[in-house]
Amino acid sequence: MAEYYPVKLRQAGEFELEISWSDGHESVYPVRVLRLNCPCALCVHELSGRKILDEAAVSADVKPMVINPEGRYAINIHWTDGHKTGIYTYELLRSLCPCSECRASRESKD
Ligand SMILES: [Zn+2]
Ligand SMILES: [Zn+2]
Repeated sequence: MAEYYPVKLRQAGEFELEISWSDGHESVYPVRVLRLNCPCALCVHELSGRKILDEAAVSADVKPMVINPEGRYAINIHWTDGHKTGIYTYELLRSLCPCSECRASRESKD
């Protein structure tokens, strides 16, 4: 079990997904960013970790259709483009959080 987990997921805008975390953090994701960072084997080469998804082929208005919990560690998203194999772990979601606080802490680690 991760040290944090989503307590609430909601659509914040047509193209935004908001996650409220158990540690009080709030993340608002542009949904296309989540689609582009899909970690499944069709989007990322399993052995090399290299991204094989053609970002240009992902439509600008792609949106989540269905979001399912995946165990206690991840969510699965079904997208309007038919893609539904992505399992987004809480850790991955947090690493994608676009807020200034998270960006700053990522940059200080690099
Ligand atoms: Zn994928
Ligand atoms: Zn954040």
